[in-house]
Amino acid sequence: MYEHASSIFGEMSALAIETDSINLGQGFPDTDGPDLIKEAAVQAIRDGRGNQYPPAHGLPKLREAIAEHQKRFYDVDLNPTTDVVVTTGASEAIAATFLALVEPGDDVVTFSPWFDLYAAAVSLAGANLIEVPLTAGLFRPDPKLLRAAITPNTRVLLLNSPHNPTGSVFTRAELTDIADIVIEHDLWVLSDEVYEHMVYDDSVHVPFCTIPGMAERTITTGSAGKSLSLTGWKVGWATGPADLIAAVRVPRQHLSFVSGGPFQWAVADGLRLPDDYWEDFRAGMQMRRDLFCSGLAELGIPVDVPEGTYFATSDVRPLGYENGLTFCQELPHRAGVVAIPHEVFHADANAGKPYVRWAFCKQPDVLKEALDRLGRAFT
Ligand SMILES: *Cc1c(COP(=O)(O)O)cnc(C)c1O
Repeated sequence: MYEHASSIFGEMSALAIETDSINLGQGFPDTDGPDLIKEAAVQAIRDGRGNQYPPAHGLPKLREAIAEHQKRFYDVDLNPTTDVVVTTGASEAIAATFLALVEPGDDVVTFSPWFDLYAAAVSLAGANLIEVPLTAGLFRPDPKLLRAAITPNTRVLLLNSPHNPTGSVFTRAELTDIADIVIEHDLWVLSDEVYEHMVYDDSVHVPFCTIPGMAERTITTGSAGKSLSLTGWKVGWATGPADLIAAVRVPRQHLSFVSGGPFQWAVADGLRLPDDYWEDFRAGMQMRRDLFCSGLAELGIPVDVPEGTYFATSDVRPLGYENGLTFCQELPHRAGVVAIPHEVFHADANAGKPYVRWAFCKQPDVLKEALDRLGRAFT
């Protein structure tokens, strides 16, 4: 049985309310996605589009928009009829992938720290999650460690780039080394790419399925919640080769069956937004990253400036703490700010101890206020 019955996010969000803290714990933006897309959902409801069960594998118009999006940004060709499935958030795509691809006793290998849902989803499928630590402090994937972790029972490699919680964006060279291991051990890959539109400076998002030989083995997940700042809508998708998507569709239908009818209509419009939406979104997040990370650095709080995502990591040892959990439990009382300890993103109880994660997808004034509060507490 999966042990983490109550999530740290619930605990920390409750503490945030209790102490009137700024919540940089849970990763959700405090600015909603485009008005145009919200209006499209309202209009769909009024027009009677999607108010009853939508088609089982997703609205055709949305599947077409997802295929178009993958073509437009990555030159990936997908057949919207067979290679795309709409899901209740990327979360359901991930759960359904494991239910489809692994048997009890199989191993799934992933880099740690990892997004907490992974352990739950792998456990629900009866499989074991084998974690391979990203290199300490730098958070890069090490192919030698990955190769050493593969067992005869390993079926799936679970990748996540841009990476939650560290913000690392895996390079094409790193992904190519990983692909060699995938071929050697004949693995399937689940590539969770929900932060695909949040990459900064010179970093580029390289979908794993574009590495030679990987398209036929890789299921890719995406999320309207993340890409359109509409996390409450829970519209996501999985894309990949027809045989793997057909396999994912089976358990997926028995999880939620269908969801988000009118939202599916609106997300189809969202994925087709012109280039300036995507560039403004990226630039807005990069501005928040710069504001928050340079603010932390000025306060003498160490920070690993992320290449992607809306998360940044700090090592709390220079602030006089041995471990991030204690830091996060005291921080709301001491500073009125909430962060999340990295240790909840590991199975190994000793891993990730000194690190904490901040979510900076908040309005600039909120980030400034958080920095002021941290400044008062720590200087
Ligand atoms: C938020 C998140 C998801 C889940 O996305 P939803 O569309 O909200 O279900 C999946 N993977 C990672 C890494 C995430 O951060």
